[in-house]
Amino acid sequence: MPRARRPNDWPQRERKILLRADFRCECGTFWDCGSNRHHRRCPNIKGQRYPENKRRIGLRVVQVRRGHDWRPDNLIALCLPCYVVWAKEEEAEINAEEERTQHGLFEFD
Ligand SMILES: [Zn+2]
Ligand SMILES: [Zn+2]
Repeated sequence: MPRARRPNDWPQRERKILLRADFRCECGTFWDCGSNRHHRRCPNIKGQRYPENKRRIGLRVVQVRRGHDWRPDNLIALCLPCYVVWAKEEEAEINAEEERTQHGLFEFD
């Protein structure tokens, strides 16, 4: 199934989720990567640095359940390590649109 297109007001929606998250990775709230890197909620905060490699933490907002539901309760902000787990479930569909966001607000560097 091809990835559903993001709604036109995606930037505003994305912003809302980041504010809800307090710019902190939401992994461990209503979705969990299952990694043992963190217990309960992931501590990673956008703009700070990963202790392991000193790289800057970015957050990406994704759907919990892929499909056409773009409501806030189906969206979650994830840091890179948590996102990688999320993305594995759908590797083939990390598409050009997502690549583009890497150079925008959500730096996954
Ligand atoms: Zn995280
Ligand atoms: Zn996680």
